[in-house]
Amino acid sequence: MKLREIDLPSRVVVRPGIVSELDEYVGDLGFRNPIYIVDAFTKEHFLPEGADFFSVPEATTQYAEAAASAVDGHDVVVGLGGGKNIDVAKYVGWKRNIPVISVPTLPSHDGIASPMISLSDSGKPYSQYFRPPHFVLIDPDILVNAPDEFVRAGFGDVIGKYTSVYDWWLGHIDTGEYFGDYSAALARMTFRHVVRFRKAIARKTYEGINVLMEALVTNGIVMGIQHSSRPASGSEHLISHALDYLRGRKGMHGVQVGVGTIVAAYFQGRDWERVRKYLEDVGAPVTAEELGVPEDRMVKAVAIARTLRNRYTILHRLKVDEEIAKNALKATEVI
Ligand SMILES: [Zn+2]
Repeated sequence: MKLREIDLPSRVVVRPGIVSELDEYVGDLGFRNPIYIVDAFTKEHFLPEGADFFSVPEATTQYAEAAASAVDGHDVVVGLGGGKNIDVAKYVGWKRNIPVISVPTLPSHDGIASPMISLSDSGKPYSQYFRPPHFVLIDPDILVNAPDEFVRAGFGDVIGKYTSVYDWWLGHIDTGEYFGDYSAALARMTFRHVVRFRKAIARKTYEGINVLMEALVTNGIVMGIQHSSRPASGSEHLISHALDYLRGRKGMHGVQVGVGTIVAAYFQGRDWERVRKYLEDVGAPVTAEELGVPEDRMVKAVAIARTLRNRYTILHRLKVDEEIAKNALKATEVI
């Protein structure tokens, strides 16, 4: 058997109020000189007073490079905020070889504890394996107050595991690539779990948000086990990447993934109506219009999705083109 290594965060802490004592807690972890990656909102609301920081408007490699250049004697980088801040923090950690602390203030994506760095350049996806953040600090008091759209996005990112795991299995059947049963089972479980708790998630109760956060963190761990985003990212993610690419910048990742999951499930010959119902139950978008995407762009996105990345999915098996894409989008009433 091949020697395998599994990358995991060394500690995941869930503690109400932890963000208000962040500087102290980071000090307790043994760090003396942190630099925080923030955006305008998290800088104003959550940044510890007097802390060194770098504010990023967008998760592009250009800003990530600038953030890495701002490191000057800092012994840890703290990604404080949503997906982009955490991704940029991981990039900084990789580039400057310092530990990373992930402090999500939004339950909107599964990059929180994942080993992947996801950035973009003019909407073109850039994804690279790094390693998971050393520490993940979760403050339920902040997360339950996240705006609804970010909660829906997090739910959509987890719903995507319905089709991503299946695409992985197709890759195994059709191309002989390795399929890890254990990580596939974990990813599938997160899907079932958020579905069961979807009403609590939509109401943003502590229980609901905890389940959603556990699902998001678990998918990061799945990627660490697999040393790849393969279990967590299939055709539904390719469709979301294609929407970003055609627009020239990143949209709301998880809600695009949610709509992508409806289409991907349809192509896979599976229960796409159930997927749509789950998304509707939390108030997430289920049509191109609700995403704010014109119909022709939606068709184009589904048609070009398989060209964006060398990763086998149902879109490759069916050789989806514009005509096939349009028929599927009409059949699922996405357009
Ligand atoms: Zn995702």
